[in-house]
Amino acid sequence: MTQLTPQPGIMDIALYQGGAAHVKGVSNVVKLSSNENPFGPSPRAVQAMQDAAANMHRYPSSDHAALRQAIGEVHGLEPEQIICGAGSDEIIAFLCQAYAGPGDEVLYTEHGFAMYRISALAAGATPVEVKERERVTDVDALLAGCTARTRLVFIANPNNPTGTMISEAEVARLADGLPDGALLVLDGAYAEYVEGFDAGAALIGTRSNVFMTRTFSKIYGLGGARIGWGYGPREIIDVLNRVRGPFNVSSTALAGAEASVRDTDYVDHCRTENAKWRAWLANALAELGVPSDVSSTNFILARFSSQAEAEACDLYLQAQGLIVRRVAGYNLPTALRITIGDEDSCRRIAQGVKAFKEGQA
Ligand SMILES: *Cc1c(COP(=O)(O)O)cnc(C)c1O
Repeated sequence: MTQLTPQPGIMDIALYQGGAAHVKGVSNVVKLSSNENPFGPSPRAVQAMQDAAANMHRYPSSDHAALRQAIGEVHGLEPEQIICGAGSDEIIAFLCQAYAGPGDEVLYTEHGFAMYRISALAAGATPVEVKERERVTDVDALLAGCTARTRLVFIANPNNPTGTMISEAEVARLADGLPDGALLVLDGAYAEYVEGFDAGAALIGTRSNVFMTRTFSKIYGLGGARIGWGYGPREIIDVLNRVRGPFNVSSTALAGAEASVRDTDYVDHCRTENAKWRAWLANALAELGVPSDVSSTNFILARFSSQAEAEACDLYLQAQGLIVRRVAGYNLPTALRITIGDEDSCRRIAQGVKAFKEGQA
């Protein structure tokens, strides 16, 4: 029998750990571990996907023109500079596959999103982790981490799992300081939670070394549909389209995403509710001695006094049917990431942490 050997780097990939959805022996669980929208997709998106289901014998559009047009209209962007993928994860993978190979370096920060490392390794490139400053992206550290071999620099802004963000001026300083041959990728998965924020799109108009990724998995509530998009210079879109499979996105996902992006009232409603209950929950936990940084996302990163306390609180919450996320894998062992659910979920979390703290005393 032939011994099959995977490409270098592949066996260094640790499998992605998704948020748990069940607790053994506990019913009525609330899943607050994957930053999903507690209100689900827009009713218009659900209708559009149901309508599309009747035509599933047809292959989907391969140029995604209708969705790119809708995104362009709503966000004021050029449809020709948009590419759609099976989640923004696929766009991240395209970027690594197209621009980073053996000997090349892919930078990201110490509490950066897991897919940057995974996609870099899958492409055979060398992942390079750079320090943050108190759970905030550190532009100086990223610039200092660049070498002549740097090809891609990923930052999520706002970031997951910290919830923090840096200013447009800082992002511009990062872009302008990168060495030639390196591309800055701005992951805007949570951009819609920041009112009026363009996720860095304006920087792309004046630069050739900035790219933006976006997703329908968070505020649009379409994580199950697997659809996201990227925006960048035409040359880069052209390169990525050569890597992309012609039917990478399903017709139901395209229909749901198009209806979602046009339903701006629904997005506004979700953003407003999220901001309200995020502030309420952060304050309630702070009063219990569990601080968090100001979050620009749909989750908060709750900090405990030790790893043991964070893990004990996680187990306590699980027993109440409340599933949050451990983030030790993101170099944050003393913290728990808690998605902002609806009012009832937030109240249950605050109640649960309170009871946990009282039980400890
Ligand atoms: C959730 C998330 C994504 C979205 O991934 P999809 O593949 O679009 O579901 C991307 N980046 C970050 C930082 C995220 O938290």
